[in-house]
Amino acid sequence: MAKRPGIRVKLRGKSWQLSRTINLKARGDVDSPEVSKRRIRISSRVKDGTEELLEVVIHECLHGLFWDLSEEAVQEAGVDLAKILAKLGAAIEIPGGAEDEV
Ligand SMILES: [Zn+2]
Repeated sequence: MAKRPGIRVKLRGKSWQLSRTINLKARGDVDSPEVSKRRIRISSRVKDGTEELLEVVIHECLHGLFWDLSEEAVQEAGVDLAKILAKLGAAIEIPGGAEDEV
């Protein structure tokens, strides 16, 4: 079996495959902790090394961690945390290329 793009992440004991997706409408999205074969999709439009990528990854992970948290709270936390990490020099990239949206 071919290696899937991206990385495996664990959030409160459950795992998701986090990878880039082509043709995603949003900047990112995340499957519910309740479904099987969970994925976190990050749009290939969001560039490696940017504060925006930090924000989108944090945002989708926060949804996975705290599924009931409001979109507004997740949005604010994602922006604030990404800003702090960027100020501290964080720059991330998602390995392994991109998959088409399924
Ligand atoms: Zn959201």
